[in-house]
Amino acid sequence: MTWVKKISPFLWFLLLFGVVGCAEYRFRPEPGFYYEWQEGDSLEKIAQEYKIDRIELMRKNTLIDPEDLEVGMLIFIPSTKAAALVGGVRFPDEKASFRLAGEGLIWPSKGHLSSKFGKRWGRKHEGIDMSSDQGLDIHAAASGVVDFAGRQRGYGNTLILNHGRGIQTLYGHNKRLLVRKGQRVRKGQRISLMGKSGHSTGVHLHFEVRVRGEARDPLRYLPSR
Ligand SMILES: [Zn+2]
Repeated sequence: MTWVKKISPFLWFLLLFGVVGCAEYRFRPEPGFYYEWQEGDSLEKIAQEYKIDRIELMRKNTLIDPEDLEVGMLIFIPSTKAAALVGGVRFPDEKASFRLAGEGLIWPSKGHLSSKFGKRWGRKHEGIDMSSDQGLDIHAAASGVVDFAGRQRGYGNTLILNHGRGIQTLYGHNKRLLVRKGQRVRKGQRISLMGKSGHSTGVHLHFEVRVRGEARDPLRYLPSR
């Protein structure tokens, strides 16, 4: 059984490398930014513009077929050594990427801004509130996939959209949800009706932007109005 003794340090190495490798992959944010797919774009064009390999671009976005790309979809463009060497290619930081990627987010409703992000009555308000005296339509702030559609404590009828690369938007206190879990939605699509379900004093939308699960100030991602 000498081969067992010989092989085990190697197996240990593989195991350790695997665990560390996964942790790295999971927790280290990758430099790059989000680009909003425009009419007439092609993978070749984007790959060339940002000095990245086309196959690598597909891999980073877990794209199987380039035909799946639709106008308004956000794709992640990693910053590469080649791009850094060439210069001239500007890579915005992640916080600003939504804004810079062609005005990424749109306002999810026409209601007026009734409460901002941050400290409120001694507690942290994780999003912004948009109110209206009548139930307005709620629209997807960006294209994505429905991660959650159902009741959530405090938030009532809630939707969570996933826009890829760890970015999500949340819509709370809805009267009615118009999309289901797993459904793909386009930016601007009607996804729910404003309401006052959950812990809510009046009809309003509670809107959150989450980056890797952490709530960020939505006003930093929304265009000024
Ligand atoms: Zn709120």
